[in-house]
Amino acid sequence: MLSKRMEEALNAQINAEFWSAYLYLSMAMHFENAGYKGVANWFAVQFKEEQDHATIFMNYVNSRDGKVTLRPIDAVDTSWNSIQHAFEKTLEHEKVVSSLINNLYTIALEEKDYASQSMLKWFIDEQVEEEETARDYIDALKKIGDHGYGLYMFDKELAARVYTAPAPLTANE
Ligand code: MG
Repeated sequence: MLSKRMEEALNAQINAEFWSAYLYLSMAMHFENAGYKGVANWFAVQFKEEQDHATIFMNYVNSRDGKVTLRPIDAVDTSWNSIQHAFEKTLEHEKVVSSLINNLYTIALEEKDYASQSMLKWFIDEQVEEEETARDYIDALKKIGDHGYGLYMFDKELAARVYTAPAPLTANE
């Protein structure tokens, strides 16, 4: 069974994942409205992935006989100055999420909770990817600047992103 401390920390993380989902949904809606359908698509896929992260944590808490407690989701920003600005905010946010995951792992170590340590490893790797992707897009957008054709091509590239369920959700099917 989960310790109360671990259960509380996991419930806080479930809320953080839903907040991430809400943030990226807000970005998707903003860029849909701004005429960047590809960028909107990329953030809409990100929105689904963050809901998946929350689901993985909820499934895990349930599987350890813990109680999932859903709490209110704080408000998110609703507009961004540019695509680069949105990806800078994305990177900033993903760095915060990485530190939250690292903190969960520290708690799992302190509680000698080996199952939670094992579950968290997927998220540790996932965060490396999340930060790298945002950083790569910021680099590309810096080169593009406010070049219309560059932004058009960037939008086209992001339109190609397709949603796939993450491994922890498909492993037990
Ligand atoms: Mg996440």
